[in-house]
Order: sequence, then structure tokens, then C-alpha cells
Amino acid sequence: MSSPVLELRGVARRYAAGGATLTVLKDANLTLFPGEIVALVAPSGTGKSTLLHLAGLLERPDAGEVFINGTPAGTQGDEARTRLRRDTIGFVYQFHHLLPEFTALENVVLPQMAAGASKRDAEARARDLLGRFGLQARADHQPGKLSGGEQQRVAISRALANKPRLLLADEPTGNLDVGTSGLVFDELLAQTRAEGLAALIATHNPELAARMDRVVTLRDGAVVPA
Ligand code: ADP
Ligand code: MG
Repeated sequence: MSSPVLELRGVARRYAAGGATLTVLKDANLTLFPGEIVALVAPSGTGKSTLLHLAGLLERPDAGEVFINGTPAGTQGDEARTRLRRDTIGFVYQFHHLLPEFTALENVVLPQMAAGASKRDAEARARDLLGRFGLQARADHQPGKLSGGEQQRVAISRALANKPRLLLADEPTGNLDVGTSGLVFDELLAQTRAEGLAALIATHNPELAARMDRVVTLRDGAVVPA
């Protein structure tokens, strides 16, 4: 059996809230193997984004550890976490977070060059990814000139740009209308499977969640089967 891409072990996260302490995650445990696509479905405010930010090494846990490919990663310093994130994790936000002054192509090229790829290789990969999402004719457009669905397709291409082993998505279609949302979701799943990635995808939509391999939810700061 292959080893897990992502493992959360006893993860806790607390926030200071006006003199009191808000415990969002208490004892979160989750294991994701290569190729496994897991839906995270839970009501607003229960800690989905917090869990994804911890899994994505954007934040550090207050207790427990986040393992990426078996490496204790979550509690490492900023520099080590940034490097691990860049090399192994793709993150898709609800609001695309694309750089507005750069083209779609450049948004997919830049993270690759930051990771050491040549401009030529980065552009080839970016064109391939944008093409897979039907955006070949949109490569030179800035995000502001693209529809919401197109912007999110660019954001997914960017998340896949550095060939991550783990894809994390925080309500990636939550900002789109129902029809567009379903289409973007199909493409996200297809490309995630094509690249053999493990993925953890937060969504409000039970129909979208049902298309994934497994559904988990959050209860009292713990990850439990839905
Ligand atoms: P979800 O994504 O499921 O809606 P979040 O992870 O965003 O939930 O938030 C979980 C809880 O933690 C919420 O009550 C939220 O207000 C609180 N929270 C999130 N981030 C912070 C922060 N930086 N400081 C204080 N409270 C926070
Ligand atoms: Mg959230």
C-alpha cells in the first residue's frame, strides 16, 4: 500500500476571540492516499477553511502535526513550509485570487518560474493546462476580462502548474452559478484524476460531494465520516 500524501494527526487550532478562546479544531485526524478525492462538507463557521489552511501549510497547528508525504510539515518554520507548499501542494480558493495585472497565461507561468522552471517550459505547461480547461483562446486575457467560471478554471490551472501531489480546494465553485459550478467541478475532478492527485475539496453542495470518493464532515472540532 502506498503511503499517505496528507495526514493530520491530533490537530488543534484555537483563535483568541475578544478575551475568550475559540477552539475551532480540537482533535482533527485525516489520512489521504494518492488518487483519493475527499469532500469536506460542513456548515459555515465549523472550520473547513481552517482545516484546509492547516493542511496547505498556510497556518501552523496549536497542537498535533500535519504530515505531507510522511514529512512532519505543519509545525516547521515559514521557509520550510513555503518550500513544501510550493513543491507539493496546489490550493484553489473560493475567489480565484488571480493577479489582476497579469494574463491568464502569466498567472499559470509565474508560480512555475518561482519554483525554478525555465520560461519556455513554464509556458508550455501553462498552455497545456489552459487548453485542457478550454481556455486556449483566453490565455492572453487578464482575469478581469474573463467570466467567473473562466477565472476559476485559470485558478485551478495555476494550482496544478507545479505538478502538486495534493490539491486543496476551498469551496472552489461556491462563487459560481449552479450550471457553471457543475461544469467547473467536472473538469476539476477529471484533471485531478488525470494527474493522479489526492484532493480535499470543501463544498456546500451535497450533489458535488457525492461525485467524490468519500465525504467527511466536522463535528466538535474533529473530522468524522459524513
Ligand atoms: P468555515 O470555512 O467552515 O466557514 P472557518 O474555518 O473559516 O469556517 O472558521 C471557523 C471559525 O473560526 C469561525 O467561527 C471563524 O469566525 C473563526 N475564525 C477563523 N479564522 C479566524 C481568525 N483568524 N481569528 C479569529 N477567528 C477566526
Ligand atoms: Mg470557509
